[in-house]
Amino acid sequence: MSAMLLNKDQWSAFVGKLAGEKKVWAPVKRGDIMRFEPLEEGAVPSLDFANTTVPPKTVVFPQTETLYRYRIGQAELAVPVLEGEAVLLGVRPCDARAMSIVQKLFRWDVDDPYYLKRREAATLVGLACSAPGTNCFCTSVGGGPASTEGLDLLMTDLGESYLLEALTDKGKALLEAAQDLLQEAPAGAVQEKEKVVGAAEKAIARSVDTTGIPQGLPGLWEHPLWQRTAAGCLGCGTCTFLCPTCHCFDIQDEVEGFEGRRCRMWDSCMFAEYTLHASGHNPRPTRRERTRNRINHKYNYFVQKFDVIACVGCGRCVNLCPVNIDLVEILRQVKEAL
Ligand code: SF4
Ligand code: SF4
Repeated sequence: MSAMLLNKDQWSAFVGKLAGEKKVWAPVKRGDIMRFEPLEEGAVPSLDFANTTVPPKTVVFPQTETLYRYRIGQAELAVPVLEGEAVLLGVRPCDARAMSIVQKLFRWDVDDPYYLKRREAATLVGLACSAPGTNCFCTSVGGGPASTEGLDLLMTDLGESYLLEALTDKGKALLEAAQDLLQEAPAGAVQEKEKVVGAAEKAIARSVDTTGIPQGLPGLWEHPLWQRTAAGCLGCGTCTFLCPTCHCFDIQDEVEGFEGRRCRMWDSCMFAEYTLHASGHNPRPTRRERTRNRINHKYNYFVQKFDVIACVGCGRCVNLCPVNIDLVEILRQVKEAL
């Protein structure tokens, strides 16, 4: 059971089957914002979206989480029990790739049990892109509209039905759980998928040749492009908070009387406080240094350490920057300057 067809009139029954097995997270629209939320009982998500505003990283890396609770004078820490197995439905291939990339960091010098347990408990059901967004450039950074990296199951919209391809044992288990709703996919369905994906690849309007960028960035340390780019930046952190590969966090204690909790929360290298030392010295004192760091982290440091660019070309930082700072344009300028 590796490639099956799900007729769209069975979509709600299919979602019901998954929800019977595990907690299902799916894209939910709240005003102008679309994000992954746990599905309410009986709810059936629509897969009619380009991509979510907030990436699905929130499911495995919450914006704020309690690491443990303590009471002064007591030796034991109360570590929260993490939630059980989850299915993420409708993950775009770029966002699944991002989870594979980020996992390298959380497995690096020390295993991060919070991230890794949630990731292990999550089954990722992807949705191949048939109509890429205006600023998608996944094909420039090693991905594509039907990339399978990080996914357990890939769905492709074939009009009247979805083609479901199991990629891992977790994906096969989902198909088995819903087998009475599925039919074996005929060979024509796989050819149809290739057409859909080929058309999506052609529809990607933005691209940049990233060859040589990781090696060339150190030589551009004092280049005026950083000042030029940073001149308009508001330092709002939107580009990092909504980036599926950004993973920086802060750890703080909240104490009341003799009790407290240690929390982890997202942080952003675009904030001045991020590198502010207790002495008052800040090694990245202005937005010029912070902008330079954002690009170097993704396109240079991460490549040196993990041999992969820490950007999946989802285009969110371009779409959502309030002053239209455009990563693809920055990368083009970097290429020109090399
Ligand atoms: S979203 Fe735009 S303005 Fe905000 S920090 Fe990022 S680059 Fe600067
Ligand atoms: S840097 Fe921008 S384009 Fe790249 S993964 Fe992050 S949000 Fe997406």
